[in-house]
Amino acid sequence: MRTAVIGAGAAGITAAYELSKAGHSVDVFEAAPVVGGLGRSFDLWGQRVDLGPHRFFSCDARINRLWLEVIGRDYAMIDRLTRIYYRKRFFHYPLKPFDALSNLGGWESTRCLASYATEKFRTRAASHDLSFEQWVTSRFGRRLFEVFFKTYSEKLWGISCEDLDADFAAQRIKKLSLLEAIKNAFQIGTTQHKTLVDRFAYPKEGSGALYTRMADFIERKGNKVYLNSPIQRLMSDHGHVTGVELSTGEKRLYDHVVSTMPLTLLVKSLSGVPDSVRAAVDGLSFRNTILVYLEIDSKNLFPDNWIYVHSPELQTGRITNFRNWVPELHRGSENSILALEYWCNRDDTLWSDSHDSLAATASAELRKTGLIGKANILRGHVERLNRCYPVYRRGYKTLVSHIAKWINGINNLTPIGRYGSFKYNNQDHSLLMGLLAAEKINQGAKHNLWDINTDYESYQESAVITELGLRSEHQEELPIPTGTLQPA
Ligand SMILES: Cc1cc2nc3c(=O)[nH]c(=O)nc-3n(C[C@H](O)[C@H](O)[C@H](O)COP(=O)(O)OP(=O)(O)OC[C@H]3O[C@@H](n4cnc5c(N)ncnc54)[C@H](O)[C@@H]3O)c2cc1C
Repeated sequence: MRTAVIGAGAAGITAAYELSKAGHSVDVFEAAPVVGGLGRSFDLWGQRVDLGPHRFFSCDARINRLWLEVIGRDYAMIDRLTRIYYRKRFFHYPLKPFDALSNLGGWESTRCLASYATEKFRTRAASHDLSFEQWVTSRFGRRLFEVFFKTYSEKLWGISCEDLDADFAAQRIKKLSLLEAIKNAFQIGTTQHKTLVDRFAYPKEGSGALYTRMADFIERKGNKVYLNSPIQRLMSDHGHVTGVELSTGEKRLYDHVVSTMPLTLLVKSLSGVPDSVRAAVDGLSFRNTILVYLEIDSKNLFPDNWIYVHSPELQTGRITNFRNWVPELHRGSENSILALEYWCNRDDTLWSDSHDSLAATASAELRKTGLIGKANILRGHVERLNRCYPVYRRGYKTLVSHIAKWINGINNLTPIGRYGSFKYNNQDHSLLMGLLAAEKINQGAKHNLWDINTDYESYQESAVITELGLRSEHQEELPIPTGTLQPA
């Protein structure tokens, strides 16, 4: 059994890692010169940075065991501090009632509470096709939606919140309501909502360490990770994939293909695609990200790991301060590296703006926030991430399920991953997809991978990572798994 994995991001590299552990023959083809995909880390100005903030968090014991198996003890727990910047004020996130009320002022707070109360007394017809705006408004009230959700979401997705599917909220702030946020702030009750978790485990070498270590293991097991090797086409015969074709024209034969390349491009690279599936693919779109890194000549700028920028007068949506993650990242430097995120479509002028122009825009916006005081901005660096966010435009689910139904007919092709299966994944979701894809190939397990990151939290054993290793839901500490990463 020979498997090809397309893409060495979280999903692809996990699938290959698990298959290698089980003694399978697997080749990984990665278009980029490095592994890690969106979760990679890299050296910049003598320090180490990620692609924006990368907080790893999962309650799934399988995922946390895997993470610890690879990272061992080389991690630290980080106390998360994140705030929202809105109209020249900083709001604690997760919400703290007194902080929020004093920042909003008496009049604005009254408006928020009145609109929340109005929503609570409103009867709405049950609907499965809610917009993001309807979903959030019904839980938080219209005014809080306008202050804390609308501008940020519209910057991120580039469409109105009425056109955005409620799935975005349901996946990320599932079950959270204003009441739960307030209860959490007052520490009433014992369970903490996933959105509000304030401690997380982080690898001392950066988030990408997970993926470079897995790639090393794959190679030590005698399998190959080919870098700079984009797959251009999948070869197929009578509804069965027979192999992959590289951009050089080289063809390789395989029994199974795991794909994490964009779902839209995957379909276009197959033959015999029905017109209705092609039309569904044309209805899907992605949002791009531009990250502008700025080096500042100060080591004490502000305490947050990252700040959400809701203010409509600024184009940036998030600012990460790598100084506040683990000391190993800044390697003794006296300077701080910040990353400002911008989101755009491929045909927006921002996407093709020059490096200097983007660095100038980011520098000017950063100054306006007041976050760096009189400190100097020394230099800039730009990273462009194509097809970063699968856009959950209303109606997208019907399109994806039509595509999925057709692909499911090809039993030796498994699409997984963030753009690979058109799911707004965090790392944990992509790790789980990789792990279950390997079980499917390896053990013939019947997983429906299209369901992950929609409703998967309900069926697993729960355990979280603490400084001592894994802690089960019964509060017992389990030892950190070791040994798997020893040379084969
Ligand atoms: C700014 C930002 C912040 C984030 N913050 C967090 C966070 O705080 N916590 C968290 O858990 N997650 C976070 N994420 C999400 C996380 O990075 C992703 O969920 C995860 O890395 C996705 O892994 P993946 O393997 O599914 O996809 P990707 O990482 O996109 O990997 C796909 C890989 O396939 C390769 N590829 C594409 N086409 C081809 C081809 N034709 N041939 C060969 N290779 C190909 C790509 O080069 C890429 O390496 C963040 C993402 C971004 C962009």
